[in-house]
Amino acid sequence: MTPILYIVIPCYNEEAVLPLTAPQFRQKLRDLTEVGKIHEDSRVLFVNDGSKDRTWEIIRDLAASDPHYIGISQSRNRGHQNAVLAGLMEARDKCDITISIDCDGQDDIDAMDQMVDAYLDGCEVVYGVRSSRRTDTFFKRFTAQSFYKFLSVMGAEVVYNHADYRLISSRVLKEFANFREVNLFLRGLVPLVGFKSTTVSYSRAERLAGESHYPLKKMIALAVDGITSLSVKPLRLITGFGVIVAMLSFVGVLWALIAALCGRTVAGWASMTCIVCFVSGVQLISLGIIGEYIGKIYMETKQRPRYIISERTWEEQERPRT
Ligand code: UDP
Ligand code: MG
Repeated sequence: MTPILYIVIPCYNEEAVLPLTAPQFRQKLRDLTEVGKIHEDSRVLFVNDGSKDRTWEIIRDLAASDPHYIGISQSRNRGHQNAVLAGLMEARDKCDITISIDCDGQDDIDAMDQMVDAYLDGCEVVYGVRSSRRTDTFFKRFTAQSFYKFLSVMGAEVVYNHADYRLISSRVLKEFANFREVNLFLRGLVPLVGFKSTTVSYSRAERLAGESHYPLKKMIALAVDGITSLSVKPLRLITGFGVIVAMLSFVGVLWALIAALCGRTVAGWASMTCIVCFVSGVQLISLGIIGEYIGKIYMETKQRPRYIISERTWEEQERPRT
């Protein structure tokens, strides 16, 4: 039986780009259906992430014009990761496969053919991997590459150069639904679910219109979230560093004692100041890292919903398939 595909697309303030890319996604469904790779009941599912512009109206108009477009709207902006999750969870029992992709046209839509082929060959997860970042600015390329390197050094295993363009089967999504964490970092979590997976490479283009929502500040926040929600390595590093500093101070104490006994103590203001500054800096950073984990525990214990859907473009009773 041919699989039903849902293309899940998070949209936040994308009124400029959505009218350009929506027909491309629709065309892709048409092409894949024509060659008999996917079922006619496949859909393009937009997730409006609490946009402040006309994004939701555009999605509603699209849905009214063609039943292959459907959309859900989040009650407020919750961020990219949660928007993707909302779409995946919504699609989970209506389809056989989902492909999540950004709505700005940066990810090559044609890579979907290979993704579906890989699924038909027995893979349950297919990661879209960027083969080149030629169109990115040097700064974006550098920060993005450092991001992956840093994540892997810190013990958060992610697929190199893979963002949130991926195929996931509903079978994997069913298991994934049991991962209940509020601190979401999908790229790190999906590999933890396991199952047979592969990668498909594509070249990343420039945004068709509008602006990126991932400035450096958000990238750093995403990296910190990724590391602290997937790995405790930073805490171990702190412990290791603490041990080294403790050993050094032991040597220092011995040195000070011997110097004092030999009567060679001089007013060492500079050295004292350096040591105090260094050690207190290390302590503050360590406390910050530990605090980051405590913050995570705090958010997890609250068990707040990860997304709240306020509107759907279809009536509950006439859901495509439940
Ligand atoms: N996005 C979202 N919620 C947000 C920020 C972004 O749903 O709070 C969506 C956005 O509409 C786009 C995708 O996430 O489809 C990726 O965002 P963007 O293109 O700005 O990031 P970049 O490609 O520059 O990393
Ligand atoms: Mg983008």
